[in-house]
Amino acid sequence: MTTAAIIVAAGRGTRAGGDLPKQWQMLRGQSVAAHAMACFAAHPGISQLVLVLHPDDVDSTLWPREPETTVVTGGATRAASVQAGLAAVDPATTKVLIHDAARPLVTTELIDRVLAALETHQGAAPAVAVSDTLWHGADGLVDAVQDRVGLYRAQTPQGFHLVPLLAAHSASTGQETDDVAVARAAGLDVAIVPGDEDNVKITTPEDFDRVEKRMRAAMDMRVGNGYDVHRFGPGDHVWLCGVQIPHARSLQGHSDADVGMHAVTDAIYGALGKGDIGQHFPPSDPQWKGAASHIFLEHAVALAKSEGFSVNNVDCTLVCEHPKIGPHQDAMKAVMGAYMGLESDRISVKATTSEKLGFTGREEGIAAIATVMLVTP
Ligand code: MG
Repeated sequence: MTTAAIIVAAGRGTRAGGDLPKQWQMLRGQSVAAHAMACFAAHPGISQLVLVLHPDDVDSTLWPREPETTVVTGGATRAASVQAGLAAVDPATTKVLIHDAARPLVTTELIDRVLAALETHQGAAPAVAVSDTLWHGADGLVDAVQDRVGLYRAQTPQGFHLVPLLAAHSASTGQETDDVAVARAAGLDVAIVPGDEDNVKITTPEDFDRVEKRMRAAMDMRVGNGYDVHRFGPGDHVWLCGVQIPHARSLQGHSDADVGMHAVTDAIYGALGKGDIGQHFPPSDPQWKGAASHIFLEHAVALAKSEGFSVNNVDCTLVCEHPKIGPHQDAMKAVMGAYMGLESDRISVKATTSEKLGFTGREEGIAAIATVMLVTP
């Protein structure tokens, strides 16, 4: 079972204002169409992305070359453009989703709902039930109230089994305003799945502002810092950022005294505004005596996840004269990355001496400072 997504971007959309068709205007660093394309490209259920362009746009730099896309030229009507897209899907395709390029806030969840309904229906499309009272007006006056029961505002992506949709399109008049109308005219059943109020179709200049505000609200970033110190005492090794390093002395502490991992953990708690290690794992509680510090780190990462955040990157600096950190940096990044579910190229572990100044310079202990960025998906 393979599913293609056809992004229809062949319109000229002049009502939205600006010098470019609305689908090529920029929203937070990417074109409107690129936002939509990225959502389908990232969906595991989509095997092919087909982009339908206006003939004037094919040779332009407007459309994104990434993700990988099958590019076709649209026709004079929406139906003709969709038919051009359908003609370009891989022969093995069994289902297609057809989406307006001017709906940049489509989500994975919305695509999932349409795909799920296609398990039991020939077609499926998202829609939002009409909640406002509907009037019929003439000459600036209300002349009738329309019963809104059973009325929906249609959205995309509209999904279909490919073979019946191809037959429906070849029998279509070309005047239908969307693919559901084409499918229904051919007798296909089309399920309504819950739409998303945010999945707006950009039509007017005000719509750009509205969508931009929603994008800004949806994205959240948090930065936190952590600082920790542990003193040296008797021993023959230290734990630093999850790596055991032989040394003439050991760091003292209630847990394994991994000062680097503690700083990173506290940076995550800090970004969340949720206290620090001492609050979550009180030193007065004997169960944490000698505890491996990855327990704390994993707890902080899980707490971030439960708040809707993932760790974007980590930067940790160890302050010590000895031991030498350089030979262990790669191992530290790999170990912390494994505990955090993070690629090690998103983790930085570096070290500095303090030029023999202060407590770290006198080798009385080791300090660590860390910065972490958390992001929402
Ligand atoms: Mg500590």
